[in-house]
Amino acid sequence: MKTILPLLLALFVITSCTQNSKENPVSEVAKSNKTDEGGAEFAIVIHGGAGTILKKNMTDEKEDAYRKILEKAIRTGYEILKNGGTSLDAVTKTINIMEDSPLFNAGKGAVFTNAGTNELDASIMDGKTLNAGASAGTTTVRNPIDLARAVMDKSPHVMLSGKGAEVFAEAQGLEIVDPEYFYTVNRFNALQRAKEREQIELDHDDKSAFYDAEIKDFKFGTVGCAALDKDGNLAAGTSTGGMTNKRWGRIGDAPIIGAGTYANNATCAVSSTGWGEYFIRAMVAHDISALMAYKGLTLKEAAREVIHDKVGGLGGDGGIVAVDKNGNMVFEFNTEGMYRASMNDQGELTIEIYEK
Ligand code: ASP
Repeated sequence: MKTILPLLLALFVITSCTQNSKENPVSEVAKSNKTDEGGAEFAIVIHGGAGTILKKNMTDEKEDAYRKILEKAIRTGYEILKNGGTSLDAVTKTINIMEDSPLFNAGKGAVFTNAGTNELDASIMDGKTLNAGASAGTTTVRNPIDLARAVMDKSPHVMLSGKGAEVFAEAQGLEIVDPEYFYTVNRFNALQRAKEREQIELDHDDKSAFYDAEIKDFKFGTVGCAALDKDGNLAAGTSTGGMTNKRWGRIGDAPIIGAGTYANNATCAVSSTGWGEYFIRAMVAHDISALMAYKGLTLKEAAREVIHDKVGGLGGDGGIVAVDKNGNMVFEFNTEGMYRASMNDQGELTIEIYEK
């Protein structure tokens, strides 16, 4: 017995060392994620912006219109995934529906800059290859998410901006519109209100109050989508007009890979919405993925930490939608509401607007 014991001990040490060396961090993450509730073969989650969205400020008709378009958008992506399509296609086509609706601050409903123009930003990321594409400050491309996708698929770059991005879009055969296409009365009036308030605040020499008030009230409606397809590939995309009354070529988080959008098959896919400056500083989308990869957190835990502790701690607000590699879906926001919807592989649909 005395001679066998040390032998057994040595054998145990050798076997456990060999096992450890075979395990990479990715499979560790996979294990920890499996402890999340739910999970699905494929899944899709979308947002239409976060902010001070209160039931008392909403009419039944308006709420109904939002719910209808959220449902139309998510069902578009769901069908693609159900039929074995890619998460990238699901994300692109789902975002197209919301870009074409004047209800959201993306594509047709984009907000106005201080100069009275509409400057649009978008990005998309492929979790399988970690390829990504983004466009910033375009004024003539009807669907900026298509441009982001083309940048990813058909150019050697990750991000294009302004005129150059528009030239590229045209060369790729994307739909080019007169900048007038983006005009909507509601958004134009919002710009006038923002400017009036700006003047009042400036007259009172209280710039910080102006910035807080304007930014909080005039940035709703960015759209985004995250999806997992049947092949286990994740993708995420985000599209926006940015913030009303923005100037000096301001670019938010939406086209910044790692801030507004991130996808990695090893962890999750995330799309953000909110006060872009804070989301850039907190690197929101990538940080959620990193917390899962390096700290072994579940998607929910990671999203909570980043939105509430990190963004909230800095004084920013907004939210994310995300799906992990096992199909667990998460909405997380620190605002009064976020237009949002999800669908799993069973076809179960949820549409929510307000804080629960
Ligand atoms: N994140 C966007 C931006 O800062 C705005 C939003 O999502 O509401 O441009």
